[in-house]
Amino acid sequence: AVPVLTIDGPGGAGKGTISRLVADRLGWHLLDSGALYRLTALAAVKHEVALDDEARVAEVAAELDVAFVAESEATRVLLEGEDATTTIRTEQIGDAASRVAALPAVREALLKRQRDFRKSPGLVADGRDMGTVVFPEAPLKVFLTASAEERARRRHLQLREAGVDASLSSLLKEIQARDARDMQRSVAPLVPADDAVELDTTSLTIPEVVNRLTDLLTE
Ligand code: C5P
Repeated sequence: AVPVLTIDGPGGAGKGTISRLVADRLGWHLLDSGALYRLTALAAVKHEVALDDEARVAEVAAELDVAFVAESEATRVLLEGEDATTTIRTEQIGDAASRVAALPAVREALLKRQRDFRKSPGLVADGRDMGTVVFPEAPLKVFLTASAEERARRRHLQLREAGVDASLSSLLKEIQARDARDMQRSVAPLVPADDAVELDTTSLTIPEVVNRLTDLLTE
């Protein structure tokens, strides 16, 4: 079987950056499952579907017309042929994504699409339920965490680099609200898989985390 490395954890723990770097180092494919929930939310907004209309949002998810285009630095994301790379990264769409992600029919509709990313020579799968639901048989599962304060600080820096001046305390509140929603939902709540290796990245640098993960794979 094609190997899968699952990387789950709360928002802002560095999963996105780490997953991309590990996938690049291994020459494996990358699944950014959060992007699929963000795209579903964006498509629902675009087609004026209410975010709590489970059946209709699930239809939007099932029919999602997306393309991930690998470019030298990042991956460009297209929704119905239009560039959605930066639009899906806003706090507003992140919040909408975590609402549609709480709907079981939406999660079900995205399941096969996510599993189709598993192609030779391997897959790094980034999300919340990669190890528990989507790839429960993955040979290596990692659960990345960092304190909420550290995650707010990283997000603050990231936004500042993008020219956005957000307050640290409001970012911390948003992160805590999103964590609570992701952990308390009834379907696929954010919890580490029983066989996941937990790694707290609060005081680790990005290269340190990447090295630990690639070391784990060769152990
Ligand atoms: O990781 P990212 O912030 O892009 O994910 C956006 C939202 O999508 C998360 O807050 C979470 O609610 C949801 N999500 C999920 N399951 C995944 C990935 C993301 O429920 N595997």
